[in-house]
Amino acid sequence: MRSFSGIAASPGIAMGRLHIVDRRRTVVSEYSITSETVCHETARLAQAIDDTRIELEILKTRLAETIGQDHLFFIETHLMILTDERLVNETSEIIRTVMINAEGALRRTLHRYRETFSRIDDPYLRERISDVETVIERVLRSMSGDAVEPFPEHEGQVILAAHDFSPADMLQINRTTVLAIITEIGGRTSHTAILARALDLPAVMGVEGITDLVLDGRAVVVDGLSGEVIVDPDSETFQSSLLRKQQYEYVEYELLKSAPLPAVTRDGHSIHLRGNVEIPEEGSAVLVHGGSGVGLYRTEMLFMNRTTMPDEAEQTHVYQTMQQAVTPHLLTIRTLDAGGDKLLEGMNQTAETNPALGVRAIRLSLSMPDEFKTQLRAILRVSANGPVRIMFPMISGMEEVRAAKALLEEAKLELAACGVPYDPAVQVGVMIEIPAAVTLADLLAREVDFFSVGTNDLIQYTLAIDRSNGQLSHLYQPLHPAVLRSLRRIVQAAHGAGIPACLCGEMAGDPLYLPVLLGLGFDELSMGAGSILRVKQTLRRCTLEHAAVLAEGCFAFSTAAEVETFLSSQFAGGCAESDD
Ligand code: PEP
Ligand code: MG
Repeated sequence: MRSFSGIAASPGIAMGRLHIVDRRRTVVSEYSITSETVCHETARLAQAIDDTRIELEILKTRLAETIGQDHLFFIETHLMILTDERLVNETSEIIRTVMINAEGALRRTLHRYRETFSRIDDPYLRERISDVETVIERVLRSMSGDAVEPFPEHEGQVILAAHDFSPADMLQINRTTVLAIITEIGGRTSHTAILARALDLPAVMGVEGITDLVLDGRAVVVDGLSGEVIVDPDSETFQSSLLRKQQYEYVEYELLKSAPLPAVTRDGHSIHLRGNVEIPEEGSAVLVHGGSGVGLYRTEMLFMNRTTMPDEAEQTHVYQTMQQAVTPHLLTIRTLDAGGDKLLEGMNQTAETNPALGVRAIRLSLSMPDEFKTQLRAILRVSANGPVRIMFPMISGMEEVRAAKALLEEAKLELAACGVPYDPAVQVGVMIEIPAAVTLADLLAREVDFFSVGTNDLIQYTLAIDRSNGQLSHLYQPLHPAVLRSLRRIVQAAHGAGIPACLCGEMAGDPLYLPVLLGLGFDELSMGAGSILRVKQTLRRCTLEHAAVLAEGCFAFSTAAEVETFLSSQFAGGCAESDD
């Protein structure tokens, strides 16, 4: 039995058979070379092998500190294969004699090894080919970058482990056969984690080295509550995990009974608790969990895993389905927030050096006005049937809002010209998730009907912490004084202009932050469906008066740790005095 710890990215406990997926499998093309470039190719091979050796040595040192020396034999084996002279000699020989590039030659070497291993009688030794494959894959990756293969098939119910899953991968996961996921990288606010929660799929992220250290097919327990992964659990551990799983599911079930209760504080102050949705099934989940509509619909998910953009009819149909699921409540549809970690194949989006600062969200939409208007017309069509708000992501200044609103007006005129009904007073809001938008919040507030703070990105950009980087998760601090000051400024700007201040980042779904957000004056919090009940329970134990004092008290401290200590002490004895 071995245990690994990572980031608890999506709650729930699952046990099952591990299936390792190499999502970074390199697509290799083989091509002929000339005699002048043979040396260059053999040098590339030697360099890649050396780089991979260094990569493995670093991994070994890091893992020795976290999981201990005893469990490092997989890495040792990989290093042995890598430094075996036969690998480099045979591959160099192929480069020279067949006159092909290093990647092609390496694939041929792997093919030869496969043939040799397949003739071995001993099944254990025969299966060691998987170690050779892993090592060669690492070398290929080091040589030729990131192209990935389509999502692989698997048989039966499994727990999937991979170096990483992209948001597009997550949308391809079959929830009936995948019980949980484990990744080597990633953070709680990455879109992969958000989608795992949307799918109600237990997930542990940041488990370094798991795809190298554990063999396919092993029994594992994934604890998405504690962030622990246990490989080959003994029967006692298995039984206690099963019990924990049942307890968790029972508490969730019991909590559901409180769904119809109003989202109101003990002193009678109501706020909206709404849901964030990505996939169609989530609309009804929001209502089942007691949400009053949708505060964020991430429409980009509809544009993924396809080579063409959805047309107006398809978009209208999908938005309408979501609307019907949440009727009669409000549906806030965010326009395409693609780019960054959400690349769209259908738009020839290429990998950027710095994707988080690249052609993302509103920048992408404004760069293709026709496609943007197609989406706006589809949203407008749906607005004729029930309350809809439109929200623009990643706004950095007034030009973008004005340009987006101008296209919205054009879209309205186009529909009107065809006699298509829509809500002429459809509300328009912006996401505040770039520090520039915080600074300009007073100006932006005059341009729109509501603000919605995207704390996932706002924290990322304010603190310069990559939200998807699990290694930096300790520095990703929602209670950082710079973040709190930004939030206060946003609410003041919104209320100064008489518009509501909403918040739809992951921060909204954590009960710890509820008193601060309530006390700062937020009018709406939107979160994953699975978080609504706990946040509502906390809200119903609070008074607005005390929350305001707590929120104000946070500004007396100069570090996130101090604020957190203050909040935990005050919150336990104050806001949460009595139960429902
Ligand atoms: C955010 O940034 O907080 C947000 C809600 O948007 P997304 O997570 O989709 O970037
Ligand atoms: Mg965002």
